[in-house]
Amino acid sequence: MKRGLLIVVSGPSGVGKGTVLKQFMDDPDLNLSYSVSMTTRAMREGEQEGVNYYYVTKEEFLQAVKDGELLEWTEFVGNYYGTPLKGVEKLRNEGKNVLLEIEVDGCRQVREKCPDALTIFIVPPDMAELERRIRGRKSEPEEIVQQRLAKAAKELEQAAQYRYTVCNDDIDLAADIIRVIIRHHMKKDF
Ligand code: 5GP
Repeated sequence: MKRGLLIVVSGPSGVGKGTVLKQFMDDPDLNLSYSVSMTTRAMREGEQEGVNYYYVTKEEFLQAVKDGELLEWTEFVGNYYGTPLKGVEKLRNEGKNVLLEIEVDGCRQVREKCPDALTIFIVPPDMAELERRIRGRKSEPEEIVQQRLAKAAKELEQAAQYRYTVCNDDIDLAADIIRVIIRHHMKKDF
């Protein structure tokens, strides 16, 4: 069986990655599997253990790093985030196309380890719209909002490092474009 693709999707906080991904994650033609990350950040309302993230303590996270269990990891706005390697390998070996939703530093590490990774960066129509979306979430204090905005501006500078950039002006259109990109690479690699 052919190994599945490794797909990395990044984009600044608030750009609507989750919403866009939801549009096609269950599309049977794409044969996708979402890689659930490990994080030390607190669970947000509506999130579930093992679905959105594996929520761990800082000690547990650093132990996983030490034991070489993560494909990549980073610190983002005061918390650690990382991709468990075992799950990714298992799914790819089963022929699944594995999708990682991670930030730019993590993507850089993935590119170094897996140069064939299919990397996609989602951008907002403009910064004002991004700020509106981050504030609309209303789940975080002003200090964190400011940190996320500053981080977003820095992340946007990295867009050129990705193989594809997709603007999330319209959710359905952004999702359709990503669908086409994935299908194209499935044909190419299979
Ligand atoms: P949030 O706290 O909004 O869920 O995620 C913050 C940022 O961390 C997002 O840009 C998200 O894509 C990124 N992220 C989530 N999981 C991982 C991971 O396993 N590794 C890395 N490098 N970034 C991650």
